[in-house]
Amino acid sequence: MDFGGYPDRGGTFLQDKLSDRAPVLDELRRPLRDLRISLTDRCNFRCPYCMPREMFGPDHKFLSADETLTLDEILRITRHLVDLGVEKIRLTGGEPLLRPDLARVIESIMRIEGVQDIALTTNGSLLTPRRARQLADAGLRRITISLDALSDDAFRRMNDVGFPVRRVLDAIHAAKDAGLEPVKVNMVVRRGYNEQEILPMVEHFRYSGVILRFIEYMDVGTTNGWNLADVVSADEILEQISSVHPLHPVSPRVPGEVATRFQFDDGAGEIGLIHSVTKPFCGGCTRLRLTAEGDLYTCLFAARGTPLRQRLREGISDSELRQVLEQVWRVRKDAYSQHRHEYTSAAERIEMSKIGG
Ligand code: SAM
Ligand code: SF4
Ligand code: SF4
Repeated sequence: MDFGGYPDRGGTFLQDKLSDRAPVLDELRRPLRDLRISLTDRCNFRCPYCMPREMFGPDHKFLSADETLTLDEILRITRHLVDLGVEKIRLTGGEPLLRPDLARVIESIMRIEGVQDIALTTNGSLLTPRRARQLADAGLRRITISLDALSDDAFRRMNDVGFPVRRVLDAIHAAKDAGLEPVKVNMVVRRGYNEQEILPMVEHFRYSGVILRFIEYMDVGTTNGWNLADVVSADEILEQISSVHPLHPVSPRVPGEVATRFQFDDGAGEIGLIHSVTKPFCGGCTRLRLTAEGDLYTCLFAARGTPLRQRLREGISDSELRQVLEQVWRVRKDAYSQHRHEYTSAAERIEMSKIGG
């Protein structure tokens, strides 16, 4: 998903105050600012909206170790992209904690001059207190933990591997104890699956310091059988919450933040709403995505990326690599969400588990 960017909500750009680097601009004059790196296409969950088990079963062919970018390859690409404007990096997957060298990845990326922020999105299942401290020590600044339900039954259904909710709640504590605050919790709401969990989640996280963010279910990939009727709109979610716990809007923390922020009138904290489907924010999308196999994607809904792994392994020079990267961004025109209604069928699209949300 696109949870970042620098424009105002109308899609025009506010003056970028974060750095003096002149970022490369795409065809719609959007600067390159954010990079999402997917560290693996594998996951220990089978959330039906992302990796339905019928499609990602025992016969599914995941990337081999040799087909996955090495740390050095990731760093080489990242360094050039930072030169071209990237300041914020998010590590994702698949499940990024399945990668044993995660702390080293974080530490090495943080050493790149110009990187201002590094964050992680995880399902939390492997985040023990020890691992959380290790990641914080490596330089991780922020963490988002995905949790779609509070009731154990509903959550086990949502992850489809019978993973207990208690262990994700423990992971959230572990992240807080390691100083990764404020922890954000992402909840994707899908009609017929977990809209009854909205209020219990709100009740649970009020006064906890955790920022709960509700995400509209998106038509990423082609395997989840997405239907517009399954989307619970962010407005509907807001109405449901504010009828019980009154809220007021607050300004974005950083210019152009994609989540719309609200605070509880009684001081119980904050929630975020991400209208990815009903109020698209392509006008401010400053995000580039690198898959674990080394393809660059300029949009979450793109059919094809630019493959880099082979070229790196064939010895592409730094100047050639930089030219390729710059060109990928310069010719970018993507604005899928703003034109979603014009697409009649589920065209070829990359899966969420490969591109990392
Ligand atoms: N495995 C990690 C996790 O679940 O946090 C990182 C990768 S996951 C693809 C990143 C985020 O994408 C998660 O918060 C997940 O809930 C969200 N996501 C996956 N499929 C989605 C969909 N169809 N619509 C909206 N969000 C989705
Ligand atoms: Fe795995 Fe995350 Fe996708 Fe769920 S959303 S299947 S945890 S990658
Ligand atoms: Fe999402 Fe693509 Fe629009 Fe960016 S350009 S906000 S990735 S639909």
